Amino acid sequence: MNDFSIKRCARCKTDIRIPSLTTDQKKEIKTARKKQGMGSTLAKIREITNLDLRDSKALVIHINEAGHCNRCTYDKLQGENQICPRCKSFNLNWE
Ligand SMILES: [Zn+2]
Ligand SMILES: [Zn+2]
Repeated sequence: MNDFSIKRCARCKTDIRIPSLTTDQKKEIKTARKKQGMGSTLAKIREITNLDLRDSKALVIHINEAGHCNRCTYDKLQGENQICPRCKSFNLNWE
């Protein structure tokens, strides 16, 4: 899998490499994050994608609950790869 897009988070000044993932893969990663913690989520991402540890971490910290910013209380994000209008944090905003 070599298909990435790169987005910059203005809030933490990180370039995030975003692999193209299927809906099932996104679900798997989100579930791991919710139920198994950071370590397992990183392992899961590295199993599914070619991302290195640094890029996997950048990805994981920008996962959010659909609609809800990962940084602030804003809860009206729509569509994937959204910048929060309130705090400028990048959100993957997977369904
Ligand atoms: Zn960020
Ligand atoms: Zn926000």
